[in-house]
Amino acid sequence: ANCICCGSPYNLGTTPTPFSRENFVPLNQHSNDELLALRQQVQSRYNSLKSEGLQLDLTRGKPSSAQLDLSNGLDGILQANYMAGAVDTRNYGSPLGIAEARALGAELLGVPADQVLAGGNASLTLMFFAVMLQNNIGCRGSDSAWNRRAAAKVICPVPGYDRHFTICETLGVDMVTVPMTDSGPDMDAVESLVKTDPDVVGLWCVPKYSNPTGCTYSDETVDRIAALGKTADPSFRVFWDNAYAEHHIATPGETLASIYDACLRHGTEDSVWQFASTSKMTFAGAGISWAASSPGNLATFKKFVNAAIIGFDHVNQLRHVKMFPNLETLREHMEKHRQLIAPKFEAVLRQLDEDLDADYGEWTRPAGGYFISFDAQPGLAQRIVDLASEVGVKLTPAGATFPYGKDPQNQNIRLAPSLPPLEEVQKAAQVFTLCVQLATLEQKLAS
Ligand code: PLP
Repeated sequence: ANCICCGSPYNLGTTPTPFSRENFVPLNQHSNDELLALRQQVQSRYNSLKSEGLQLDLTRGKPSSAQLDLSNGLDGILQANYMAGAVDTRNYGSPLGIAEARALGAELLGVPADQVLAGGNASLTLMFFAVMLQNNIGCRGSDSAWNRRAAAKVICPVPGYDRHFTICETLGVDMVTVPMTDSGPDMDAVESLVKTDPDVVGLWCVPKYSNPTGCTYSDETVDRIAALGKTADPSFRVFWDNAYAEHHIATPGETLASIYDACLRHGTEDSVWQFASTSKMTFAGAGISWAASSPGNLATFKKFVNAAIIGFDHVNQLRHVKMFPNLETLREHMEKHRQLIAPKFEAVLRQLDEDLDADYGEWTRPAGGYFISFDAQPGLAQRIVDLASEVGVKLTPAGATFPYGKDPQNQNIRLAPSLPPLEEVQKAAQVFTLCVQLATLEQKLAS
């Protein structure tokens, strides 16, 4: 399509036509009549999409079948040898997980193995347990339980991971937001909250390839987070969810400073809980997970968790360590994931670059992880999600990246391109940019 006012090529989502940014005509250089005509063009393309009966899904960060297939070797890997040293993994026991699985988690998280618990298929369960322990039981006797206080708030960098917010909501822990920046949470805001609000008792973090912005925290941010424990309430805890520790899209990937080393420097080991899992390395529904913290915290955690479970699935832990005897083998495996996932991110980013500019929104270019975070013009996220849904493209609900599902600016949308095949990702991205164009034009014309 050509721009209706100057005739220059104007890509309205038709693919894959080469697009020259030099010829792009910003929306704000159009008169009202031109905008009306442009909207008509976009609307008619949108209407024709309706007849295509699309059924596409960019909602959740799940691995694709091809990615899952990479780990099919887990099936049968034990060949009926269930022993992990002297431990028969088929039986009860080893409340902290088998030694080999704890060692792998220790390498991944950069902590001593005796400070790690290896768990079942969901690190989310371990996070839920950790928050519940802090809230309901207390890590240093019942007086330290958050729910003994008049109020307890956890800081949530936004946009963030919806299930962290759900844990807090479910357990009745209040949330207070701070903005995410390119180097991690706005640390001035975090430090100010910790200093001035005595109700602040925690901080959620996805430090590497953050969900959904893709940002990796800078060394300075990691150090400042580790230092929080020096001034915060003794029951203050950082929930360091390193879900995307080895999940690169770019080569080389980004590196994250060690929060453990920083805590040792500041003497704040008690203030941090670390988590990770193989959910997006092997099978999302049948992997293994880890939690790590100071020896004191871990001892209390073990007692608490063992009230709910005698031992995790040690057979599956053994399968995993047979497949990944060390971090190096796991990294080789993650390179295969990268090769499958990178083209999907490239496809979405190419479409965004071709069809949109800052008049329509801003988006992140992650070097890893599972998401692209898109900020539309304020007020438009819900409209864009609805428009996409009407033509058969499911997007993560507007507001999902904020506590209580409420994005005050109604502008953030999380795109998750990992699951569908590449052609479907391309199609969904075309629909997405078209919906952004339509919603933006509608808003501009209404103002
Ligand atoms: N943490 C983050 C930041 C995630 O994005 C996800 C899944 O999307 C999880 C945790 C879930 O991990 P698990 O499957 O180990 O519970």
